[in-house]
Amino acid sequence: TCGICVEKCPFDAIEIINLPQELEDDPVHRYGENAFSLYGLPVPLEGQVTGILGPNGIGKTTAVKALAGELAPNLGRHADPPGWDAVLDAYRGTELQDYLADVRDGEVSVARKPQYVDKIPDQFDGSTEQLLENVDERGVLDDLLERLDIEHVREQDIDSLSGGELQRVALVACLARDVDFYFIDEITPYLDISQRVKAARLIQEMAEEHGKSMLVVEHDLAILDLVADNLHVAYGEPGAYGVITSPKSVRNGINEYLKGYLDNENMRIRPNAIEFEEHAPRQVSRADTLVEYPDISKSYGEGEFSLDVEGGTIRENEVLGIVGPNGIGKSTFAQLLAGRLEPDEGEADFDLDIAYKPQYIEIDQPMRTDSFLRSITDRVGSSYWNTEIAQPLQLDRIMEQQLTDLSGGERQRVAIAACLSETADLYLLDEPSAYLDVEQRVRATNAIRRFAEQQDATVMVIDHDIYMIDLLADRLMVFDGEPAVHGRASEPKGMRDGMNDFLANLDITFRRDENVGRPRINKPGSQLDKEQKKQGEYYYSL
Ligand code: ADP
Ligand code: ADP
Repeated sequence: TCGICVEKCPFDAIEIINLPQELEDDPVHRYGENAFSLYGLPVPLEGQVTGILGPNGIGKTTAVKALAGELAPNLGRHADPPGWDAVLDAYRGTELQDYLADVRDGEVSVARKPQYVDKIPDQFDGSTEQLLENVDERGVLDDLLERLDIEHVREQDIDSLSGGELQRVALVACLARDVDFYFIDEITPYLDISQRVKAARLIQEMAEEHGKSMLVVEHDLAILDLVADNLHVAYGEPGAYGVITSPKSVRNGINEYLKGYLDNENMRIRPNAIEFEEHAPRQVSRADTLVEYPDISKSYGEGEFSLDVEGGTIRENEVLGIVGPNGIGKSTFAQLLAGRLEPDEGEADFDLDIAYKPQYIEIDQPMRTDSFLRSITDRVGSSYWNTEIAQPLQLDRIMEQQLTDLSGGERQRVAIAACLSETADLYLLDEPSAYLDVEQRVRATNAIRRFAEQQDATVMVIDHDIYMIDLLADRLMVFDGEPAVHGRASEPKGMRDGMNDFLANLDITFRRDENVGRPRINKPGSQLDKEQKKQGEYYYSL
């Protein structure tokens, strides 16, 4: 260890991480002797979207409680809390002085979008309409529901909604309030890209047009880049201490985070940089064929959803990315491959064994994590399993916990581990990024890639996080059409063709950051956007 971490280094640091300057100062808050300490606070600014980028468990909720006046920071003096006046003294002359004075005087009102929307049905019985009618302080319900394409769920019971619908209802419930300060703990889980972009636009309008302070935690970096006006990076040791930096420009903040080095703080937060390829990787077809399938059609019945699949080949030990909107037939295709659905047209007599991680994870058995995983494979605890599965997915600390006590991000990691622990012909992971923080996404990506290479396994990954798809996929299969009505699935394509088709459907182009080559969404109608569309290059530079 490097001296500051209580447990093993979260970043497997090869080099010694230098002691952060902030830790020599007093914390903003400490929960108790040897308990979690928070250093630094984000600064909410009127008319701005402030982003926070960093791991889970690093004190974001603690910081928001302080900014909402629900927790009086104790400045590290937990035994003898000094009270608000001392806090104000400590922040005199800083950007937070006026804001904290208002908090002390009870003049700041706050609305929040919780991180785990899956829990909403446990806490609320009734219809969407009933949930929303009490919160429509701005009289904007109709508009918000329409802008997020969820008017159709108005009359529906909350417990019948899909995760993507719940996510948007929760966002509407937050944005319909009339308060000073809005805290959105993750925008994107379960939303497809166009839904993500629409939600981001609404959040920006709250700042730009209504002058509100918006604070957003987001792990989809393309969306964070799009939505935020300035950015705090958070780092530390989850569960032990967290540091929230002074605000940075969004571009610098994300670039520094990806490089693993914070310039102003003179602080290494990860030994290696996360890098993207600017040019499309060359297509290699060394691998053997896992399955070759003809054109297939499937309809669920007269007037119901139908899917047309273009015939193609899936290779052994490739990671095939699957992209496209929600409700377009991606799971239907998987069920056709598994032989669980019969096609209407096309000779398709498959009998592939598929290990499947669904989008919405239901592991609610009253069982410990280790017993659950042992019920799937007897390799739990073997050195292969420990290094290739448990370590990258950070299962150590949760092996002895009950499944029902796990957080959303923990359940996701257990579900990915469970899927990769099965013996199967094909591994299908539906939205593995949901509720994982950026660091966990990168680790999960590496684990999945290594799994495919080392186990000669074929992995198909459905995800909406472009950065994750970019880092993961060897080839892409693109779904388009009209969600819930008709879907078309392309044959698996090389990354350049696949990304171009996918992003042309969405009408979104990406440019490259000059410093780190990271993809950034172009402003619609900008010079670059127009040029790239004309050339048909939506993602990779030539
Ligand atoms: P985040 O929102 O970044 O996930 P939180 O602010 O919720 O993080 O929590 C940061 C750390 O503080 C966690 O390790 C959590 O267990 C700890 N913590 C939160 N609330 C309390 C509390 N009331 N007493 C002691 N520790 C707490
Ligand atoms: P995706 O995985 O892309 O989100 P799905 O394949 O799950 O899409 O669903 C595509 C469409 O088919 C959706 O509108 C869904 O409601 C509908 N659908 C899925 N399963 C059935 C079924 N068994 N009967 C009728 N409609 C279905």
